[in-house]
Amino acid sequence: MFDYLIVNGRIIDGTGRPPAFADVAIAGDRIAAIGQLFHAPARYRIDAAGKFVAPGFIDMHTHYDVALLVNPDAFNVVSQGVTTAVIGNCGHSPVPITDERRDELRQLLSVIEAGVEWRWQRFADYLTALEEVKPAINTVALVGHCALRAAVVGFKNRPATDDELKAMQRLLRECMDEGAFGLSSGLVYPPSAYAPVDELVELNKVVAERGGIYATHMRNESDALVAAVAEALQTALRSGVRLQISHHKAARKPNWGKVAVTLRMIEDAALRHDVSFDAYPYTAGSSYLAQLLPLWALEGGASAMLQRLRDPQTRAQIRQAMESDPALDFTAVRIASVASDDYKPLQGKTVAEIAELLQRTPAEAVLHLIEHEQNAVTMVWFVMDEADVAQVLTHPLCLVGSDALTIPSNPLTVDPQTLPKVHPRTYGTFPRVLRWLVRETGKLRWEDAIAKMTGKAADKLRLKERGLLREGYFADVVVFDPERIADRATYDEPHQPADGIEWVFVNGQPAIADGRPTGARSGCVLRFAGA
Ligand SMILES: [Zn+2]
Repeated sequence: MFDYLIVNGRIIDGTGRPPAFADVAIAGDRIAAIGQLFHAPARYRIDAAGKFVAPGFIDMHTHYDVALLVNPDAFNVVSQGVTTAVIGNCGHSPVPITDERRDELRQLLSVIEAGVEWRWQRFADYLTALEEVKPAINTVALVGHCALRAAVVGFKNRPATDDELKAMQRLLRECMDEGAFGLSSGLVYPPSAYAPVDELVELNKVVAERGGIYATHMRNESDALVAAVAEALQTALRSGVRLQISHHKAARKPNWGKVAVTLRMIEDAALRHDVSFDAYPYTAGSSYLAQLLPLWALEGGASAMLQRLRDPQTRAQIRQAMESDPALDFTAVRIASVASDDYKPLQGKTVAEIAELLQRTPAEAVLHLIEHEQNAVTMVWFVMDEADVAQVLTHPLCLVGSDALTIPSNPLTVDPQTLPKVHPRTYGTFPRVLRWLVRETGKLRWEDAIAKMTGKAADKLRLKERGLLREGYFADVVVFDPERIADRATYDEPHQPADGIEWVFVNGQPAIADGRPTGARSGCVLRFAGA
């Protein structure tokens, strides 16, 4: 007797094969059978007539590391069909960590901070802490280069010494032995930004030895985009590591169109090497508000930056650097989240609007907010061209990564007006790709879009027995309505779950049943098993 039997639907199996009629049976945590099963006995039958049945979606790029400990039911995640998420991206992981640098690292990584105690030290301890809260989704954890470098070198802007490099390699090897899938860098964020390419090559040799991946938030995504892609490719070719370029984009108007060049560079490298990238289907990004500051102002970590803001002369220099940047449009920057209660009403407003409210210049308003919130302030920033976004996402080497920064409390149980104005990608990434690029514009076929979200992603991560609809595989399964699937989250009202996602199984347990969350938390903390 099967536990669940999904009948009358068309399966898209994740390999890129076109939809085909077949029934899917689930027993325990596995896909027990696929075929003509209409008359088979089952505890629960799901009529999927007119629906597609696909593997659960794999989000290649998130920042859910600490947020999952706070909101393990992950409503925004499962409600868009995602059953596995990669965490620890952009150099931002909460581990490894040393006792003396704990507070400083938390402050530096305030975007993932989440207000819980960071009581782990080793990678294995963090994975155990994650396991203990029983998350609703499966997780794939990377080692963040910010944390790795902070643990060994600290926050100084200088190359690592030979001994420090060896110590970082040792620590990285330990993390990988304890289950990390690879390394991530955030080369615009200190202290990751202070690593020359040689350091990244040496560290990635360790990752390459074990068959892991290197996910990079590159050194530049705007004026120096092409050079940054060249650096990422060089890092991969020299170290032998398998490369994943994170949230590929050309930011700021003067650079729009450059992705035509970078995609060709990546294609060329991919002929000889394992290279891919990911993207989210929106023209706005989201990060710390402090990313508007010149890099020198961030040197030495968050406390050094805040110290600089207290010095009137340095503050004026920072302000001038921002004001003399012609591509920085303060009407295109919205405040997404703040830490303090007094400024919660500013969430969702543009910097230009806030400047008026606070009776300050826009640049001064930015500095004031960063200071007031002790760096714990994030923005949504409109920087991309829609044609570029479509070109990147429809490329065969592109996987899908939401880059969601947090897991909000379930808006069905708390008043959404009390929640931060997160980027709508937090709820809408996967349904939006299917609505926009498949159903509405026909730029992708269903099977190709689904393969990006499932089979190709699992392949890149070397996940065992996941990512495809196949007998014996783990039962991570999504049932969705191709006529209705759509993102509903907007920049003004982000806390809206998608339409058309009807069933989401994580390891055989429904997290979404008939369109409603069940509260089931059946995710697994996955550990890298090697090549
Ligand atoms: Zn990033």
